[in-house]
Amino acid sequence: MSKKFLAVIITFVLILSMATVSFAGGLTDGTYVKPAKGFASEFEVTVVIEGGNITSITVGENNETVGIGSAAIEKLPGEIVDAQSIGVEVVSGATVTSEAIKAAVGEAIVEAGGNLDDYSVAVTKTAGEEIVKEADVIVLGGGGAGLSAAVSAAENGATVILIEKTAALGGNTVRAGGPYNAFDPERQASLPAASEAAMESVKALTEKEAVSEEHQKVMDQLKADLEAYYAGDTSKLFDSVALHILQTYDGGDYAGKLDFIEKLAGESLETSEWMEANGVVWKDDISTVPGGLWPRAHTPQNAAGGDYIKANSAKAEELGAEIILDCKATELIVADGKVVGVKAEMGDGTPVTLNANKGVVIATGGFAANVEMRQKYDPSLIPELGTTNSPAIVGDGIVMAEAVNANLIGMEYIQCLPLGNPATGGLNGWMGGIGVEYYYQVNTDGLRFMAEDGRRDTMTQALLAQKGAMSYVITDTNRESENSEINIWGDNIEELVEAGTIFKADTIEDLAKQIGVDPAALQKTHDDFNGYVEAGIDAEFGRKLFGDKIDKAPFYASPRMPTVHHTMGGIEIDLQGHVLDKDGNIIPGLFAAGEVTGGIHGKNRLGGNALVDIHVFGREAGKNAALGN
Ligand code: ADP
Repeated sequence: MSKKFLAVIITFVLILSMATVSFAGGLTDGTYVKPAKGFASEFEVTVVIEGGNITSITVGENNETVGIGSAAIEKLPGEIVDAQSIGVEVVSGATVTSEAIKAAVGEAIVEAGGNLDDYSVAVTKTAGEEIVKEADVIVLGGGGAGLSAAVSAAENGATVILIEKTAALGGNTVRAGGPYNAFDPERQASLPAASEAAMESVKALTEKEAVSEEHQKVMDQLKADLEAYYAGDTSKLFDSVALHILQTYDGGDYAGKLDFIEKLAGESLETSEWMEANGVVWKDDISTVPGGLWPRAHTPQNAAGGDYIKANSAKAEELGAEIILDCKATELIVADGKVVGVKAEMGDGTPVTLNANKGVVIATGGFAANVEMRQKYDPSLIPELGTTNSPAIVGDGIVMAEAVNANLIGMEYIQCLPLGNPATGGLNGWMGGIGVEYYYQVNTDGLRFMAEDGRRDTMTQALLAQKGAMSYVITDTNRESENSEINIWGDNIEELVEAGTIFKADTIEDLAKQIGVDPAALQKTHDDFNGYVEAGIDAEFGRKLFGDKIDKAPFYASPRMPTVHHTMGGIEIDLQGHVLDKDGNIIPGLFAAGEVTGGIHGKNRLGGNALVDIHVFGREAGKNAALGN
């Protein structure tokens, strides 16, 4: 081909591309800094215009949620520069942050003399050529379970590819407050003894009618643990693996599988140490997560659930795992009765085929964000209910597994929380999240209506029975707010107050006025509650877990409503993480872990047990997939 002809082609291509990018006749060169109001913070967007075109967009310091808003910050600037248009698609799950960036860039364009319509042309993506790759283990889903499966598979010598449907890793795990239950004598050593009433409830767990021999064995173990405790220093908290097992089993109405619960509780501490080795830094404080029933919740140092994702994704990459974002698994590939790979699709429609030499691990999470699917299994979950879940959590893995004859178990057990953000259904945006010990909850009449340390299903039912299913969590200045500007969800506390998301006052009376509750009623509730703290007994609702009195001003009130949180049911697996078919046989080559699986928690899941479940079983599934077990 002659040089001249090539030059003509290049010019033609340039003209073509100019036709799509520089229709406005160019922008005025310069650097434009515009404010943006994201989901969790305000930040600056710097737009550089050179040669009449947008050449760079930088998002300044911000507090957007890791793995959610951060995905938009990573993805959109480049896409807008490439397309020279703010007509790019918002990042799924991060609409507010995406729109904030687009609006700020829009302002810069206008200031630079551009006509906004010319720079808002909808950007359509075009699919590329099929991508075909191969690895020993293919992991579907980049939440907590998928990443621990990827790390574990790589540690066991496998080559690994992990695909994630959205633009960011994290799934629901990144949205979690991060509580992780583990019996941990060292960290629990500084905790005071539980109240007598709480110890009575422990004893009661040893006196149940055994549902199996194994159940009897665990009850006997708890009896022995209690005897040893009462023979020693009873000024300290009692806890044991047997108690964790029995609270989980009983808390799920004996519908969970005991051997799975034994593995979950038995390996929780060891798995927390494994995660520590992978980079998770644990706080030393232990508390009780709502619905967790006992003070054994560990939390990672920084951004709640985000810490697990950061640590395990860095570890997975260090071990050579390839992570592909924006890649949605659509169908398992089966050959001779064995799962040998997966079909997937990139966000722009590019088809992907991933061949697995050893195994595929499904870790795509549950289905709480799939309104139709959740209503199919529990018709009481009306569409109006919000959800704490990422919009990506719609049961893809369950559908794919069903298509290869996997058995589903416990699908009707869907957990709601009494602690959802009324505006978004999300879990963040409130004060008191560090532990049940630190708050009480009132209805719009300023009255308590439940034991706040109860099971999640009972608490949600109690809240649903209140006016408008509306409540306020009341807490004071404690370790969540004393030394930090952010709450455990990473929200800036003062910004929450300024935005009217939560309320803050020096007196209970003033707090009551702010939330429109009768001050005398709230003051009485408050005083009564502090009396119960002192007595160690809740005369009204039988709450058993208390911390200090709630008496350090300023006080906070956070509006909270029920929200759909966790689907306990899903794909049936064995203890090694193999997926079982409808006849109870292993489907060769197929593994699953995390919220996508069922049968572990039973009818109700204890708070702080999901992060244990996904990491214990994610690690197990990854290992067995790697070893070809
Ligand atoms: P778990 O707690 O079980 O790890 P998470 O909700 O934290 O579950 O993570 C599940 C992840 O799987 C999410 O990041 C979600 O976006 C991703 N995911 C869901 N469906 C698909 C799919 N079809 N292909 C790839 N990733 C998926």
